[in-house]
Amino acid sequence: MSTVSSSQLIDLHTHTTASDGTDTPAQLVAKAADAGIDVLGLTDHDTTAGWAEAAEHLPPGMTLIPGAEFSCVYVDGARRISLHLLGYLFDPEDAMLQDERARLREDRRSRARRMVENMAADGIPITWEQVSDLAGGGTVGRPHLARALVLSGVVPDIDTAFRDALSSRAGYYVRKADTDVFAAIAMVRSAGGLPVFAHPLARRRGPVVDDEVIARMAEAGLVGMEIDHPDQDATDRAEAAALARDLGLIGTGSSDYHGTNKPTGLAVATTRPAALEALLALPSAKRPIGALA
Ligand code: AMP
Ligand code: ZN
Ligand code: FE
Ligand code: FE
Repeated sequence: MSTVSSSQLIDLHTHTTASDGTDTPAQLVAKAADAGIDVLGLTDHDTTAGWAEAAEHLPPGMTLIPGAEFSCVYVDGARRISLHLLGYLFDPEDAMLQDERARLREDRRSRARRMVENMAADGIPITWEQVSDLAGGGTVGRPHLARALVLSGVVPDIDTAFRDALSSRAGYYVRKADTDVFAAIAMVRSAGGLPVFAHPLARRRGPVVDDEVIARMAEAGLVGMEIDHPDQDATDRAEAAALARDLGLIGTGSSDYHGTNKPTGLAVATTRPAALEALLALPSAKRPIGALA
């Protein structure tokens, strides 16, 4: 294995048309090369469908870290807190994790369809067919509903779509299926993968879990957490860094790029080479693809 050089630009969390991004996997790796990225994590929601195309089109010198982002929940009595778990370098054929991804994807379709029905019942002119076409067979997410609302002239932009129609406060919202976060950590580990907590302190997305829960996640096999992420401000990042240090977790960074479905550009936040080195030193079912293989 080659070592990670100190000058490498590393973005470990991105989305493509395999879920709710707008670039195909081939376009994503080409844009990542243009942005000067050396190591790219591909983490579509609840799917590995983009891995092969990204690997096939990988520009020379680039390294691909295949992964996925899992929709999870932390249940505390009557309270449910949504959270996202990244899994890297797991075995895509692992039956338990594969079944769970399929369950989450299927539920995302029926949930989006129900949200369309809720809006249609209120006179908002979007159709499931339109949303399904926009998703093009990939994992369906609210960004597809947002684009349908913009294209239908209901709202001027994606941000307004989220605020006025798609947020959990907006009346049309339907909860999606998720995995208990401790079960998800166990599944990713059992598939030989490396679980990393995505945007753990992104408070403007909704309530976040407290430090004690993250400590229990670490005990359950979590290996890292995102520190530098567009949805975490300087205070959140400092807090996340201190917590990662206390818990012995690897601190990562990423753009969470979604193409034009979000304003965030590639590599607006990145992972330190030493953190990637620590991640790749852990045993995993798959090795990276490309230069650092
Ligand atoms: P879902 O997974 O279907 O619940 O949709 C959540 C997705 O919508 C995540 O990928 C978020 O990054 C994205 N999202 C949430 N709020 C916004 C927003 N205001 N603008 C753009 N994307 C958003
Ligand atoms: Zn997304
Ligand atoms: Fe996320
Ligand atoms: Fe994401």
